[in-house]
Amino acid sequence: MATQDEDRFDVLIAGGGVIGLACAWRALQRGLSVCVLERDRAGSGASDVAAGMLAPVGEASWGEEGLIGLNLAAHRLWPEFAAELEAESGVDPGFWQVGALHVALDRDETEELQRRHRLHREHGLDSEWLDAAACRELEPGLAPSVAAGVLAPHEAVADPRSLCAALLAAVAERGGVVDEGSEVASAEFDRGVTVRTSGERELRGGTLLLATGSDAGRTPWLEPAERPPVRPVKGEIVTLRERRRARPEDFAGAGPDRRERVCSRIVVGDRLYIVPRPDGRLLIGATVEELGFDTTVTAGGVHELLREGYRTLPDIAEMELVEVRAGLRPGTPDNSPLIGQGAREGLMIATGHYRNGVLQAPATAAAVAALLVGEEPPFETEPFRPDRHRASMGGDSSRAAAGARGGTR
Ligand SMILES: Cc1cc2nc3c(=O)[nH]c(=O)nc-3n(C[C@H](O)[C@H](O)[C@H](O)COP(=O)(O)OP(=O)(O)OC[C@H]3O[C@@H](n4cnc5c(N)ncnc54)[C@H](O)[C@@H]3O)c2cc1C
Repeated sequence: MATQDEDRFDVLIAGGGVIGLACAWRALQRGLSVCVLERDRAGSGASDVAAGMLAPVGEASWGEEGLIGLNLAAHRLWPEFAAELEAESGVDPGFWQVGALHVALDRDETEELQRRHRLHREHGLDSEWLDAAACRELEPGLAPSVAAGVLAPHEAVADPRSLCAALLAAVAERGGVVDEGSEVASAEFDRGVTVRTSGERELRGGTLLLATGSDAGRTPWLEPAERPPVRPVKGEIVTLRERRRARPEDFAGAGPDRRERVCSRIVVGDRLYIVPRPDGRLLIGATVEELGFDTTVTAGGVHELLREGYRTLPDIAEMELVEVRAGLRPGTPDNSPLIGQGAREGLMIATGHYRNGVLQAPATAAAVAALLVGEEPPFETEPFRPDRHRASMGGDSSRAAAGARGGTR
């Protein structure tokens, strides 16, 4: 099925984030020829900022049954996806089944956590109620005010930067092309697709996959009514690093990596999450704001995250501050992704993954690869059809919520 011509491919992919790259890898495995066109550097969008939680329990919310099902299916795919990816690429995507502890710090938060726990039970999610002592036994660094908690032992993380590096290597290994610094400027659909890039390159493809993340809602070469209803939802995130505490054995040359950890699993509070990495980094995220295409890191955002982090795990005050970033989640009206046929023949869509693009990447890529070769996707994609919001399409999808400031999480 692979074509030979240097500018002809079975599949052209606009956007080299975690979604575009995962779809490219799975399509290549099906024997399709693939070229990913990435405006900047592959993996430099939201995928570069994400915490990488693979957390179907933490993300479960009321009235989102379809999304809960997708998140669970994606979570089940992750261990095999990570192992296969590492075997093909030689790069560890940072998958770590670390578990998550959700904590409540006062009476209101305890009531809210109880409601969430009931929701978990209604959906058969793996979530255990703990009293304050049991929480502190698991995480001795928790603030004394911790009143109760919920343990979700199977929540996991991936390191999104390592994941993108692994996907890039796997795509290259399979003969895929990734053209960085190449923005898709126009696309014409006529028995396939002709794409022109900002660099005046012209490419032909059988299918164009739109995987441009939060930019998808402003795709200029689609009519307003044909554009996916995606809006940017800003999130700021802070990275800290454990400082090694010198111990006698360090000076004796023993034990190379004896860190005292501030926490040993994901800790989730009412207004934040704290994600440890095996190398001693700790991410505190994330603010949620609807401000259009703004990725400015603000003093207020960082203050909020550090204040909430300190309120939950006071020892973070001792850590080194190494990075603050802001990224744009691709939000949709119902918080669920858009996966499947686009408004033109030859156009396929995989975007709108909002807060769960890292988690959902394996499932999305499996579905897209199956659709590309005319097979049934491995899960029901009907609830994620890109045209399900047709009535709300047609206009600037960031308009509805522009200017709104949210909290954290
Ligand atoms: C603060 C924060 C925390 C998050 N935490 C998590 C988490 O813990 N777990 C989780 O699962 N998800 C998380 N997410 C969400 C996750 O980051 C996204 O859902 C996911 O990265 C979306 O991937 P994507 O490939 O669709 O988009 P992106 O990574 O944004 O990639 C889109 C790419 O398209 C490129 N592009 C745009 N326009 C064009 C064009 N015209 N031509 C060519 N290229 C173009 C961009 O340069 C970009 O590289 C978080 C997001 C944020 C901001």
